Amino acid sequence: MNIKTGPVTVVEHPLILDKLTRMRDVRTPSRNFRTLLRELSSLMTFEVTRNLSLEEVTVETPLGTRAGGGLVKHTGVICVPVLRAGIGMVEGVLDVIPSARVGHVGLYRDPDTLEAVEYYHKLPGDLKESELVLMIDPMLATGHTMAAALDICVNSGAKNLAVMCLVAAPEGVREVRKYHSDVPIYTAALDDRLDSRGYILPGLGDAGDRIFGTR
Ligand code: URA
Repeated sequence: MNIKTGPVTVVEHPLILDKLTRMRDVRTPSRNFRTLLRELSSLMTFEVTRNLSLEEVTVETPLGTRAGGGLVKHTGVICVPVLRAGIGMVEGVLDVIPSARVGHVGLYRDPDTLEAVEYYHKLPGDLKESELVLMIDPMLATGHTMAAALDICVNSGAKNLAVMCLVAAPEGVREVRKYHSDVPIYTAALDDRLDSRGYILPGLGDAGDRIFGTR
């Protein structure tokens, strides 16, 4: 069962909870953390893309004809990882939507103001025609970075956006909704709050550091 609490859908499934619980565990090494992140991203993508349109096709099986089949237009999906932790989710999305295209948005959080500062973006030219522009970042913390990443995509023509994260803080959800009230947010968990440095409590720590083994 998925819980839709106002603007955010918490995707509930035993496999999702299992993987997220392992990722939260401080003892999980980077290697396992990356694998779990990839798997969890695939599972989340499954739910986020539930309403993708299908092209009806008739297919010949070895034994007959099956009408009423459907094919997803994979190229209609663009995923946009927010650098750098979003990179860890890309392969999971591509595992289930192999011909999705990938844009990149690079933002960092100013450590004093916690505001997002852009340093890079490279997006496909036809964002406007895309059926789904899927913004990915494991952590929706202050929401400043995601709101700014959404601004960049909207200014580049994106229309059908969704946010997919793994752990969200209420503050981050509110911030994104303030500027992008129509963009659905999907998360595997809605945690308690932020600490003074903008980390999610209890969260899973610094996702980028845990993915890449930095710290
Ligand atoms: N980014 C992270 O990686 N972790 C947090 O808790 C908040 C932002």
